[in-house]
Amino acid sequence: MVYYSTRSHQQPVSPSEAVLQGLAPDGGLYIFDQIPALDTSSLFSLPAEEISARILGAFFPDIREMDQLVKAAYQDKFDAPDLVPLKEVGPFSVLELFHGPTCAFKDIALCVLPHLMTAAKKVLTVKQGAPAPLLHILTATSGDTGKAALAGFKDVPGTMITVFYPHGGVSDMQRLQMVTQLGNNVCAAGILGSFDDAQTGVKNLFTDKSLKKELAEKGISLSTANSINIGRLIPQIMYYFKAYGDLLRTGKIQPGDEVSFCVPTGNFGDILAGYLAGLLGLPVGKLMVASNRNNVLTDFFDSGHYDRVRTLYPTVAPSMDILVSSNLERLLYLMTENSPEKTADYMKQLKEKGSYQIDGELLNSMKERFYAACASDQDAKKTIGSVYRRHGYLMDPHTSIGWYAAEQYKKEHPEDQREIVVLSTASPYKFPGTVLESLGQEVPTDPFAQLDALHHSTGEPVPPSLSALRSMPELHTRVIDPRDMKSFILEGRF
Ligand SMILES: *Cc1c(COP(=O)(O)O)cnc(C)c1O
Repeated sequence: MVYYSTRSHQQPVSPSEAVLQGLAPDGGLYIFDQIPALDTSSLFSLPAEEISARILGAFFPDIREMDQLVKAAYQDKFDAPDLVPLKEVGPFSVLELFHGPTCAFKDIALCVLPHLMTAAKKVLTVKQGAPAPLLHILTATSGDTGKAALAGFKDVPGTMITVFYPHGGVSDMQRLQMVTQLGNNVCAAGILGSFDDAQTGVKNLFTDKSLKKELAEKGISLSTANSINIGRLIPQIMYYFKAYGDLLRTGKIQPGDEVSFCVPTGNFGDILAGYLAGLLGLPVGKLMVASNRNNVLTDFFDSGHYDRVRTLYPTVAPSMDILVSSNLERLLYLMTENSPEKTADYMKQLKEKGSYQIDGELLNSMKERFYAACASDQDAKKTIGSVYRRHGYLMDPHTSIGWYAAEQYKKEHPEDQREIVVLSTASPYKFPGTVLESLGQEVPTDPFAQLDALHHSTGEPVPPSLSALRSMPELHTRVIDPRDMKSFILEGRF
């Protein structure tokens, strides 16, 4: 198994190298040369950790002892014994992915990634006989990756991490989670710009030759914890299999039945993991791409035209406030029969004129697998309120956009009887203000008063990691211009 850039087959790398590098030198994303063979039907009866170890072992065959690695990654970090519980809620099943240390689905992969990188470094040290470089992990975040990555890499030997988040573009809780992060190898900064500016900035740093040279002299190499890193993406395949296994156990489906998944989408990483689950052999029905008002993907799956030249709106689901969905590049590659030429051409157009158009045949094959819908802030809030009233189930605004899109699909396709799983990507307590408002409650200005009010109103417990922020000092308070990201990195403020 080797990994290629989505933009050229010139420089294949080993699985370990792909994880450590994060982004290919030509700016493309790393992708496997073939889908590994895996006996998928044997996965359904396994616990989440074992499913994860089998999948990771298949995609990263040069990393040994995956069972221990995964066990260490998740041990004592989740407040659900099966990591990703599936709940039956009215017409849908909800897959709760927020039971990890930072209360968002990013934890599933970011608990594993530091362990993967450490193991990959060992593989390369043995292969090259030279000490592995110190890794500097650069991460752009729309809110949740930042905290999950900081927590995951905190005090991991041989690594340091810098997170860039859009100043004013994340929720109060998300910001507090990042700026209070402890650890002697961690750093976070707000940037005066959007998530897309942060992500573009990070991608530019990766292709900056002078930076690379300067860091190499200090024995440092760059990597990333964003879902542009294949090591972030592959650990997310597990929960699609786990959910399918749960549905089999409760008798909601029979072996072989297709199941559809509805995914609140931003950078297209979570839903791409569902697509990869299908390539591995999971009977995946529709993959539903749920967007907020920044509905660039809804337009794309409708018309085949991707157009990032538009206003970015701040919404109640800030982790999806994204116009350039990076992992779509991997889908384009996989759906053009692994064509780096076509993929590179689309990406060139995206960079140069901000848009590209795929042909009708490719669009039709995408539409067979994908469905897309978007929800306004109003829709999202109404959905939180109505689902709570009807089913007693409390959702965060991202999840409620997923629920809304699944309902839209049902309305448009009443004949489709396949089971629908809505992925719940964050705890409602990460967005207490919006959730309170959606329930028709008064919203205090202080975020901790909001937590208390939500607890009072629903009787559900506040995740201890969020309450704990109350008494923690703000450590990382710098806000910088995106043009200063490079000098910020070189300062090495740890
Ligand atoms: C990151 C995030 C998303 C979007 O996931 P992608 O993999 O970027 O598509 C959705 N909801 C929440 C809460 C998130 O943190």
